[in-house]
Amino acid sequence: MSGVKGWCPGALRPMESGDGWVVRVKPRGAMLSRDQAQGITDAAERHGNGLIELTGRGNLQLRGVTPDSHAPLIADLRALDLIDPDIATETRRNVIVTPFGGDATDALVRDLETALAASALPLPAKFGFAVDTGPTPVLTRDPADIRIERAGSGLILRADGMGSGAALGSPQDAVALAGWFLERGGAIGGRGRMAALVARGIAPRADIAAPTAAASATPGPTPQGMLAGIEFGQVPPDTLRRLGRLGTLRLTPWRMMLVRGARHLPPMPGLILTADDPRLRLRACPGSPCCAHAHAATRPLARDLAALVPQGAVLHVSGCAKGCGWPRAADMTLTATPQGFDLIRHGCAHDVPALRGLHPDQLPKVL
Ligand code: SF4
Repeated sequence: MSGVKGWCPGALRPMESGDGWVVRVKPRGAMLSRDQAQGITDAAERHGNGLIELTGRGNLQLRGVTPDSHAPLIADLRALDLIDPDIATETRRNVIVTPFGGDATDALVRDLETALAASALPLPAKFGFAVDTGPTPVLTRDPADIRIERAGSGLILRADGMGSGAALGSPQDAVALAGWFLERGGAIGGRGRMAALVARGIAPRADIAAPTAAASATPGPTPQGMLAGIEFGQVPPDTLRRLGRLGTLRLTPWRMMLVRGARHLPPMPGLILTADDPRLRLRACPGSPCCAHAHAATRPLARDLAALVPQGAVLHVSGCAKGCGWPRAADMTLTATPQGFDLIRHGCAHDVPALRGLHPDQLPKVL
């Protein structure tokens, strides 16, 4: 096993980064039990550099793993039931889950993951599923190719890119739709997304209107527990341990965790507990000195600029043009270069900048 540069990482196939290997763990059902929360934190400190990140797909990334520490790390994670049997199964099991579903959602996700594992479908690494079966939809803006949603009193299966879906009989239907995607030429050279196939005019049967998108979730109390934001998506080890002791954790793709059953959370390092916290508007990769590719420190600068970011807008500070911290467009992106910061408006870290080579002292004025 060796780390692969630029690969979409998993746990069994890590990716090389500036601070060592990145190991991405996909907890089953997007949930962590108390023992798993304690165990993964211990493993991150023992076998990596202790940095734990919550990704835009609700997975956990452990950083600073080495060629020597990878095998013992995987053994520890396997003992916690956090590892798939092989790389193919791990690659296929991309499922994001609403934190607001109940036991029926948990059972549905379990069955979907079991069916996916058994399917042997050679799906592209970025191909994924969204189980959005809570009282209102919350995942419509998050990346997924096949969506299970609530429509009226039943559930529908919807191909991403379509405005309607078909009645869901069982989770196996979602796997069948993934097979249909492959049969219809959706993946070429191991890459491809459902929305692109639909845009080519190739669409599955669909006769039930999809629900409309609901408002974004924000930190605070919910009927299912307390939703907590994670600053920059990086959760300090002791914070994860303490959260795990308070309840089962549901991981979301919004850099937030739901602590099931909790009615209150005490302040902890790295947690965002209120909807008006300006840090919710920030995105930033680890930057310098964590990543060898970074041209500048990112998170301290983002914190300094937070108060200047209007409500509802997103500021992304990236250590280089790769844009790992937010691989999407942001209202404002600052990309560090050897000559200073480039400012990109309404684009990604690698897009053409409106201004180049800015000194940090100039940034408050241009933002
Ligand atoms: S975007 Fe940030 S984390 Fe990614 S390679 Fe560049 S500096 Fe490193």
